[in-house]
Formats: sequence, structure tokens, C-alpha cells
Amino acid sequence: MIRDTFKGRRGIQTYVWIYCMVLTVLILITIWLCQYVFLYNYYQSAKISSISHEADRIITAYGTPDEEIVNRTVAYENNMCIIITDSEGNPVVRENNLGSFSKLNNDIENNYSMYIYEIKSELQKSGNVNYTTTFSNKDPDVKEMIYCQKIYKDDTPSQAYLFIECTVEPMDSTVSIIREQLIYITIILFELAFIVTVFITMRVSRPIVQITKTAKRFGEGDFNVKFEGEGYKEAEELALVLNDAKNELRKVSDLRKDLIANISHDLRTPLTMVKAYAEMIRDLSGDNPVKRAEHVQVIIDEADRLSNLVNNLLDLSKLESGNMELNLQKFSIVDKLNDCMTRYQLVIEQNGYDMKYEADDDREVTADPDKLDQVIYNFLNNAINYTNDDKVIRLKQINMDKKVRIEVSDNGKGIAKDMLPKVFDRYYRDAKVKRDVVGTGLGLAICKEILKCHGFAFGVRSEEGKGTTFWFEIPCK
Ligand code: ATP
Ligand code: MG
Repeated sequence: MIRDTFKGRRGIQTYVWIYCMVLTVLILITIWLCQYVFLYNYYQSAKISSISHEADRIITAYGTPDEEIVNRTVAYENNMCIIITDSEGNPVVRENNLGSFSKLNNDIENNYSMYIYEIKSELQKSGNVNYTTTFSNKDPDVKEMIYCQKIYKDDTPSQAYLFIECTVEPMDSTVSIIREQLIYITIILFELAFIVTVFITMRVSRPIVQITKTAKRFGEGDFNVKFEGEGYKEAEELALVLNDAKNELRKVSDLRKDLIANISHDLRTPLTMVKAYAEMIRDLSGDNPVKRAEHVQVIIDEADRLSNLVNNLLDLSKLESGNMELNLQKFSIVDKLNDCMTRYQLVIEQNGYDMKYEADDDREVTADPDKLDQVIYNFLNNAINYTNDDKVIRLKQINMDKKVRIEVSDNGKGIAKDMLPKVFDRYYRDAKVKRDVVGTGLGLAICKEILKCHGFAFGVRSEEGKGTTFWFEIPCK
């Protein structure tokens, strides 16, 4: 089914191959263009720039004692004919390394410097600092270049002109060698592109294929799979995220199983009791008013326990589905906590609890008062249920900067460190606690949802054998 959906779609391998080929072709086009179209121009401008560099050397030395040696060296190193004329065009310096083939030298000797005048006037016409011309020397058959530049020097009496003649090396043989090489380069590049494609594809797609295989097994309900994405960062991150998601899903699945088991257990126990006591009244105590009242009371207590469980479950599902609307009101925190304490007056008197409210200055807070009651009652009920025999319980109000902190502490046996992060989880219960003390295991989960919905910070700290403190903080002005 899934396979059919992807029929006709290209895989990673095809895409990588296409991109590699496109890149290769682009590289080759660039190289071929450079070789065929731009090579001669490039060579010429490189030549001009190297001549102008030599010209600078000559000009710097012009008029100094080094002049002669510099001219000779430059002419010798570069196979040049160097001529410097005065502003009129009469040669004042002549350094010829081209022998009788030099056009400039011949021009001076046979032609009264006609050609030199011509070039000089071209330079003046162009208005540039220098002027270059190329021509084919018939004898011998080579290409040559003549470079001309005006010499400005403050310490020389008048202006002068520098002429440099040199051969432009024939490039045809070089070009044909390079072009032959280009064919090999093209073949090698295509082969390399193919190998790189296979390599990249293997590296990129292998972890994805592996993760897909694992995901299929996971989709079939196997929670024991492990996603592995070795090779590169993205695949490793993907595997990590999938492993986290899998663990979360496993938790939810385990929780659902536990929840159903716990709820059915909690429903069955009171129902069994109700049935047993109802039968007892029918068969034995129906005529005995004292016994009957006692048995009816058990039935009422168990029914209360049942309705408590059902209410808690309803509350929690409403809170968790995000259907809770907060009825926010402003009220005095001291009044609220005093009200809560009044509700516990009977319990304190009858059962001898040492339960006290340690108040601070009054502050006005904004919250949903009924929901806040629920949180405080849950914390206090837990403290009552889990405190030790001296029955000490404290409700503390601590005013802080821009917030009020409410703490409920007991000095019971505390909660083990590794269990602390779980106490706010739905249906978490310490297995060692006796059933008659414990309620539904949903109290703290409800508190967590209410506090989260308000956006209040909350938490718990506990030391085994010393006691536990649950707290939350209400922001205020
Ligand atoms: P109910 O839904 O009736 O409140 P419950 O008290 O068992 O049932 P929670 O209030 O959610 O459920 O508490 C979860 C568990 O956390 C308790 O069963 C208990 O093991 C542990 N616990 C909570 N408060 C305390 C406390 N003050 N001291 C020690 N353990 C506590
Ligand atoms: Mg509780």
C-alpha cells in the first residue's frame, strides 16, 4: 500500500546523481570556455601586465647611475628591445636583445624612427598612460608586442618615452596540448562524479533506510525497537527524536494499561463491599437496628469512595483535554487560607492534628478560587494521610518579591528521591502505602493540571524520614 504511493517517485540516489552531473557539466563548461574563448585574451593581458612591471623597473632606474645595468638586465631576462627617446622622438637609450629582428631597432637605423613617431602619436591620441600594439613580424614568423609609456620624472630635464618590443610566444601548440588534456579531464570528472554519487548516496540513504525499517516494526506495535541513525548529524538527531517519541508513546501505552487495571481494581473493591454488606443486611442484620446502621454506614462510605473516584477521573479528563475554563477573581490570600483552615477544624479537634497556618502580610492575588481550594485541599489531605504519629502539619504563606509562596509541609516518612519526579503523574502511588489511607492516586495529577493552567510555578521537596513539602507560587503585585 505504502509502496504503491511512492511508485514513480525519484529516490535520493537519482537526485544526488542528477545534481552531481549538473555540477560536473557546469565545471566542464567553465573550463572549456576559459580554454577556448578567454585563453588568448587572458594571456595577452598577463603579458601586458608583466611588461608594464618591467617598464616600472626601467623608469625607476632612468636617469640614475644604475640605468644602464638595469636596462641590460631587463632586456636580457625578457628577450626585449628597450628604447627610450626624448620628447621629440630621438632615441637616447637603446638596449636591443632581439638582434636584427627588432622592428624598433631597424626603424631607427633605416627609417628615421618613422614607426616610433607613429606609436608615440597613438599613445598621445589614446590619452592613456601606456599604449600596446601587437603585430606579426614576417621575418621571422612570430607575433610581437610593442609597449609604449610616457616617462614623467621631476629630476630629468624633459619628458621622455619608453618603447619595449618583445615576442609573444606562440600558443597554438600549448593550446592543443591543453585541449587534448581537457578531453581526459572530462572523462575523469564524469567517472569521479559517478563514484562520488554512489558514495554520497550510500552514506545519506543508509541510515534513512535503516530508520524506515525500524519505524515499520514500531508501527506494527513493537516497542522494543531502537532507532539508529549513524553516519551524520541529521540522521543521528532524527534517530534520537524518534527514540524519545517511542519512549513517550510506550509510557502512554503503559499508563493506559495501568490506568485501566487500577480503575477496575478500585471500582471492584467498593462494589464487592457494597454487595457483601447489602447481602449481610438482607440475610443477617436486617432486624438488628444497631448492626444494620453499622452495615448501612459501610455501604454509604464505599459509595462515597466510588463517587470520589469517578469525580476525580472526570475532573482530570476535563483538565487534560483542555476544556477547563478558569473563573479568575481577585481575593485576599490570608482570607482564603483562613477559610481552608476552618474546614479542617473538625478533623483537627477530633483526631488531634497539630495543624497550623503561618500567615504573612495580606496580599491580593488573582486566581480561580474554587480550583485553588482544590489544590490546597489535596495538599492538606495528603499531609494528613502521610504525616507521622505526632501529626504535625504546617500551611505556610511566604511573601516574596512579586509573588506569594504557599507551602504545605508534614513530617511524615517522606518520598524517595527517585520517586519525587513521579508524584505528580497520574495514578502514581507509593506501593507501600496501605489501601485504606490512600484515595485514588489522582489528587496530585489534578493539582498539577490546575497549577499549569494558571501558569503558577509548583513543586515538591522531600527528605525520607523527615517529611515532605508541596509548594506553589502565585504571582502578585
Ligand atoms: P487521592 O487521589 O485521593 O489524592 P493519593 O493521595 O494516593 O490519592 P496523590 O495525592 O496524587 O494520590 O498522591 C500520589 C502519591 O504520592 C501518594 O499515593 C503518596 O504515595 C505520595 N504522596 C503524596 N503526598 C505525600 C506526602 N505528603 N508524604 C508522602 N508521600 C506523599
Ligand atoms: Mg492525595
